[in-house]
Amino acid sequence: MGGDFIVHRIGPDQFAELALSSKAPIRLGERCTVFMERDVNSYMQRGAEKADLVAGLACSVVYNYINRVVRGRRIGKCIFFQGGTAYNDAVAAAFAAVTGKQIIVPPHNGVIGAIGAALLAREQMKQARGPADLDLADQRPTPRGDNREGQYVRQARQKTSPPVSRFRGYDLSKVSYSLREFTCNGCSNACRIQEFTVEGNKTYWGDKCSERFRHRTKRPVEPVTMDLMAMRQEFLTDDSNVAQPPTGAVTVGIPMAMFAYEQLPFWRTLLRGLGFATVLSAPTNKEIIQAGQDAVVAEPCFPIVVAHGHIACLDRDDVDHILVPNIISAEEIPSDVELHLCPWHQTLPFVARSAPALTETANKFMSPQVHFSDGPAAVTGELVRFFRPMGLKRSKIRSAAAAAFEAQQTFKRKCLTAGAAALDVLKRTARRGVVLVGRPYNIHDPGVNLAVPRKLRQYYGVDCIPQDFLPTGDVDISKINNNMYWSLGRHVLAAAKIVGENPNLDIIYITNFKCGPDSFVKHFTKPAAGKPFLTLQFDGHSNDAGIMTRCEAYLDSKGILRPRTRPQPQQQAVVT
Ligand code: SF4
Repeated sequence: MGGDFIVHRIGPDQFAELALSSKAPIRLGERCTVFMERDVNSYMQRGAEKADLVAGLACSVVYNYINRVVRGRRIGKCIFFQGGTAYNDAVAAAFAAVTGKQIIVPPHNGVIGAIGAALLAREQMKQARGPADLDLADQRPTPRGDNREGQYVRQARQKTSPPVSRFRGYDLSKVSYSLREFTCNGCSNACRIQEFTVEGNKTYWGDKCSERFRHRTKRPVEPVTMDLMAMRQEFLTDDSNVAQPPTGAVTVGIPMAMFAYEQLPFWRTLLRGLGFATVLSAPTNKEIIQAGQDAVVAEPCFPIVVAHGHIACLDRDDVDHILVPNIISAEEIPSDVELHLCPWHQTLPFVARSAPALTETANKFMSPQVHFSDGPAAVTGELVRFFRPMGLKRSKIRSAAAAAFEAQQTFKRKCLTAGAAALDVLKRTARRGVVLVGRPYNIHDPGVNLAVPRKLRQYYGVDCIPQDFLPTGDVDISKINNNMYWSLGRHVLAAAKIVGENPNLDIIYITNFKCGPDSFVKHFTKPAAGKPFLTLQFDGHSNDAGIMTRCEAYLDSKGILRPRTRPQPQQQAVVT
């Protein structure tokens, strides 16, 4: 469980004992305990009893689970509590106290899930290869000496090549292994890799990409649609129709983060039209993320951290200015509600400026304030007010702004046209597609999302459709939420509604841990789509192995990886 910080202080054995001695657990909310360290420290400074704090943490685990996982579904009378967390008596007691139900912790609670997974795998293998070919009796250990590799190898009964089990048996602790650590120089991530050699077989851990050290089974299906992710990147960065800057022009760096993942055509066309040369920051990489982590002072969401890194790295590129616009609202779409960007996004120039590491860099900031929801005429007026003092003519600014709006519209049109074609192909071929919903800087920045969207297509042949390839601007979401004031939230719910109207579409929601608006919007996504969806949260810490496993489970439950062989439970999967 989370809350390792306190477990480290008091020791795991004492945790349950202390918690069970508490008469008044402190209510610590229902956030994951990973995020509670600061609250706990503050209570301790104010003299709170350790026992009450520890009991409060146990209760938080329960409230978190009930409110974020169970989410109003019916809870039965008798509850089996399994998994590693069930070793903690305090959490089991907290479940009993909060739910008022009987809680049973079965023996071997820590491995019951693994046993269940093994049984399901056996069933799948039987179905794939025929029942005669899989019998647990055949899985008895081959005596050492009979098998040079020391593995348990099932004897072949048929002439077809036999499946080989990689199960190493229950004496794993006696198996000899060696460990080598090295840094992978395959890309700028420079992952620290651990190479385990177990009886001649090597396995690798620590890579962020899963590309260099893992062999994937060949996917059984190929996508039928065009690669919309790659296509979007091409549309976004294409500057073939944008005016070229004059020699020796003043340079403006554009951080490839946040607004740029949606509005690059607008801003680049505007700046070039004004006579500036534009420089894009490098794709998000480990160095940029580290620079962002070093610079931030508050605790913003991961994309804002990454944006700080891009700004810092652009400064090192020695550009004359850095574009960090103060965007209050994202676009003009028909709505009775006033639409806003998230406060972190709106205030990025001010937040970045206040970071001590960026104080000097901030002198280069170019931060026009714009309200896109007020329409092109109002935005043009705002741009005139900002750029006139720089000695630029009003007419030049107006014509650059007009070209910028046209470039942005062209980008949108291209995406929608390609999206309509993709939906048509899926319909004609009776294939399922997965709509990727979320914020463009989460969906389309492979440095943020570990390139998972691309891997869905490459590894599993998934036909991915990013939400901006769907006509979300035309969808009425008032019956789902009549006060959705987050503009991107409207698009997410509109995309979910489109998914609900198309039986061959499913959803993967790509977000990050600390995104406030998404934590709100997610609650309405399932009602909008009328079907469960997978949430992937990225925070810059994880490698992709666990995330890909969850994707596989989700795709399998949807019959996308392989045809369904049994009815699947309707559950929302949440990756944390
Ligand atoms: S919307 Fe979410 S991800 Fe975007 S800036 Fe706000 S908190 Fe961060």
